[in-house]
Amino acid sequence: MRRTLVLGCLVLPTVVVAQRTPKGFTHADTLRGSNGPGRAWWDASFYDLHVAVNPADSSIYGYNAITYRVIKPSARMQIDLQVPLEVDSMMQDGQRLEFNRDSNAFFVALKAAQPTGARKTISVYYHGKPTAAKRPPWDGGFIWQRDSLGDRWVATANEGFGASAWWPNKDYLADEPDSQRIAITMPDSMTDVSNGRLRSTTHNADGTTTYEWFVAEPINNYNVEVNAGHYAHFSDTFDGEKGKLTLDFWPLAYHLDTAKVQFQQAKSMLECFEHWFGPYPWYKDGYKLIEAPHLGMEHQSGVAYGNHFKNGYAGHDLSGTGWGMKWDFIIVHESAHEWWGNNITAKDQADMWIHESFANYAEGIYTECRDGKQAGAEYIIGSRTRIQNDRPIIAPYGVNAEGSGDMYYKGGSMLHTIRQLVNDDEKWRRMLRGLQSTFWHQTVTAAQIENYMSRQAGIDLSKVFQQYLRTNKVPTLEYTIDHDRLSYRWVDVVPGFAMPVRVAFGPDASYEWIKPTTQWTKATRRVGNDTAVRVDPNFYALLRAPAATPGK
Ligand SMILES: [Zn+2]
Repeated sequence: MRRTLVLGCLVLPTVVVAQRTPKGFTHADTLRGSNGPGRAWWDASFYDLHVAVNPADSSIYGYNAITYRVIKPSARMQIDLQVPLEVDSMMQDGQRLEFNRDSNAFFVALKAAQPTGARKTISVYYHGKPTAAKRPPWDGGFIWQRDSLGDRWVATANEGFGASAWWPNKDYLADEPDSQRIAITMPDSMTDVSNGRLRSTTHNADGTTTYEWFVAEPINNYNVEVNAGHYAHFSDTFDGEKGKLTLDFWPLAYHLDTAKVQFQQAKSMLECFEHWFGPYPWYKDGYKLIEAPHLGMEHQSGVAYGNHFKNGYAGHDLSGTGWGMKWDFIIVHESAHEWWGNNITAKDQADMWIHESFANYAEGIYTECRDGKQAGAEYIIGSRTRIQNDRPIIAPYGVNAEGSGDMYYKGGSMLHTIRQLVNDDEKWRRMLRGLQSTFWHQTVTAAQIENYMSRQAGIDLSKVFQQYLRTNKVPTLEYTIDHDRLSYRWVDVVPGFAMPVRVAFGPDASYEWIKPTTQWTKATRRVGNDTAVRVDPNFYALLRAPAATPGK
């Protein structure tokens, strides 16, 4: 998700190395966004989360037992839990631990030895009224809602904002637990649907019920979810690349009939994305769509859905081409994140393009599966009207910063442009599947993705990534025709940018490849002085005829 939120932070044009707090960011941003000394020495392996939710007064309480592997010995541990929540105690090996608070981070003094390789558990008990989301899913937290029948409907959405908005953990994208229990206690009248599979339902003496969900595969912490309301349930299966995948659907009870029709799209989505990206990444945990009181979120193995069972994005076609009205944006986009964002997760919020550029591109791919290659291309090209070019897509590292919203449409157009450079659809599909299999269940840096794509394409794409991800300039092909001789060059580009591009000379001419650089190149072929030059719109590039002729 994260479609429209623009953080009010100052973004620097250059990449800043982690640990030093960049200008415009705070000490708290560094604690949150970097692999600091309280974090780097331990690796989360299991979160055993237990939370009781009281919708009557918007409060929660519970604990997380954090099991971790010691990478190198240390006695000081950082655990994140955001204000206004309070930690009641922290325990290890039966001993109560001392801790102090630095805004949203707690620093714990460990008593037991932490030898390299040891597996230890620390339990963090907490309570309070978590931040209520102001504009979910973009400005997140807990969502205290009522459905249209007036019944309580509670959910969480906290991408960017952080999982520590409602539960204690290492709130850092690069460290995912190998598995997680999510035990949510709600009033008896409500059903909770979280990630993974339901292991048990326990009715408690105090009029509450505990739903024990278990995620058997690595999960990024912002995906951990509560959805509690008056749900109906129906299920299905999908015969996929890794066998039978269970599909479970949880609409509000009064939406059951509508959901049974609309949620059929999940199957054609899975078929398309498995073909292009490889197997769905969570066969153990299954695939779920859960109706939510917000537009939607890519919650792993339990996609939150709030698109009102309509095609398009909240009733609109974001591409303006008509193709986007033929399918349900939230089913397609949020599910695409199971591959791009959940299977392959950016280590730093600054690289959210790895989630959103590919998810946007996946919308075009779904259109292609459904309505053909031309339709898919038109969808991506049509979406370009939404590009702002306000600032770079990649934000400063180490401070939990997010780059330009261009990570969606411009990022998708960048990938579509790279597909043109690869110029071989089967090879392109192998590259996308290769990214998924190579970085299966991993967190990654931008460099890993970029280098892999260059290697597999057999093309040095480094300047292409540099241009589209790290500047806000659009490559512009400048040309002139002098005595029937065409000259061209790239302007508004990073030094050394030499992307080949397809152009046509004249309204009916077909496209042919040229290889411009930042220097003027004189074409060997002759064209008429009044020839209208066109750039293939599959490339995200501009065209400009200069007023003056180039120097001889
Ligand atoms: Zn998204």
